[in-house]
Amino acid sequence: MYDVNSKCADDFINHEEILETLAYADENKENVELIDTIIEKAKKRKGLTHREASVLLACPIEEKNQEIYKLAEQIKKDFYGNRIVMFAPLYLSNYCINGCTYCPYHAKNKHIPRKQLSQDEIRREVIALQDMGHKRLALEAGEDPVRNTMDYYLESIKTIYSIKHKNGAIRRVNINIAATTVDNYRLLKEAGIGTYILFQETYHKESYLELHPTGPKHDYNYHTEAMDRAMEGGIDDVGLGVLFGLDKYRYEFAGLLMHAEHLEAAFGVGPHTISVPRLKHADDINPEEFDNGIDDETFLKIIACIRIAVPYTGMIISTRENKSCRERALHLGISQISGGSRTSVGGYYEPEPEDESSEQFDVSDNRTLDEVVRWLMEMDYIPSFCTACYREGRTGDRFMSLCKSGQIQNCCHPNALMTLKEYLMDYASPETKAIGDKLIDKEVLNVPNEKVRNVVLENLRLIEQDNRRDFRF
Ligand code: SAM
Repeated sequence: MYDVNSKCADDFINHEEILETLAYADENKENVELIDTIIEKAKKRKGLTHREASVLLACPIEEKNQEIYKLAEQIKKDFYGNRIVMFAPLYLSNYCINGCTYCPYHAKNKHIPRKQLSQDEIRREVIALQDMGHKRLALEAGEDPVRNTMDYYLESIKTIYSIKHKNGAIRRVNINIAATTVDNYRLLKEAGIGTYILFQETYHKESYLELHPTGPKHDYNYHTEAMDRAMEGGIDDVGLGVLFGLDKYRYEFAGLLMHAEHLEAAFGVGPHTISVPRLKHADDINPEEFDNGIDDETFLKIIACIRIAVPYTGMIISTRENKSCRERALHLGISQISGGSRTSVGGYYEPEPEDESSEQFDVSDNRTLDEVVRWLMEMDYIPSFCTACYREGRTGDRFMSLCKSGQIQNCCHPNALMTLKEYLMDYASPETKAIGDKLIDKEVLNVPNEKVRNVVLENLRLIEQDNRRDFRF
């Protein structure tokens, strides 16, 4: 039975509830009166239920869809302003004992070169990432309890935080690794991770079992209940996601929102982020062999509907998507993007020859971080390298209260400007720096509180003239 508070995956992601939701959405997808009521509710910025959001997702009426897009864009502006948080993935190891049929790291793939970074190799990768200007990483690895042990992860996190190369520093390490125990989540929290990210891949249990035929990941309930264990272990920033293309997108969408509702109900705090990866070509993976691929229009509608359904949750898009799709997605709700990414193990220090690639999937946006930063600023976005919230203890519901208090403009906005200034001083090309300095001059005037604004102006001066770094509110 559907029970949002239950600790059992079959109850909080209840199959019958999803089927009923989809039937309800089908019945009402052209019910203009109901759709208007849902849009009016969404305008209050308190979110929508999975049923309400599913009606909007199913709605084919062009005029209503335009209203949905407009509202998504407005909510994005209200909560995140024009800031876009920057990050990069760092692949630690592609050893994996699972059988995921869509991932080239699956255990039966004997062709892909297997690698695990040593601590020295991690150092080289991190220096390369710092030299690009990155401050925030998402660690990635396959599941191999013998090689990729918790001790290995903990040591790697320690290494990453310890490296200070020139003015560089990695200030927030997020981690995307296989579902684990409460004790291990506690250890990750103590090691100072930011967000624990785990993609559900698909919420459809039957498909999940087929797509993960072998290995520990086959256990659907253990995987789906991972965020509950992470929360019990003290990690209150968790990142959800589904891999679009594996099952029917409307089913996934309802499941994703039910997962968010469950975390909110059971722990008083919803997901910190939602990622929207789409299945990509990879070493021995051909996305055409999967039946549920979605086109760009559908993908963008999903993003807009997530944005208005969970306004406080950050949304992440990776370099799986190309420049033009990322551009449209930014308007509709994305708040975090990666730049200059490599999905191979060791690929930042030393790009691999094409025929020996350890990549997890093909990247569709191959621009450098500098190019991505410049592109964002040319569209009047502020690329932000801020990591302050988590370092100031504003995680979980404390971060949510900041969002809800309306103080973001006096806190996140200045932090974005100061960290962008650091980037411009230390890593930007002259053209990017010129555009960025102009943008900062303009945007600093948008800090509402005069006292805060004066502190920001002084800090910007100290960054430029005294080589000072790491100011934050
Ligand atoms: N091993 C970890 C786990 O068990 O979830 C996950 C880390 S994996 C490095 C990161 C994510 O990449 C996976 O959760 C999956 O969604 C995604 N992925 C795998 N194969 C992919 C493909 N062919 N195209 C796009 N994304 C893919």
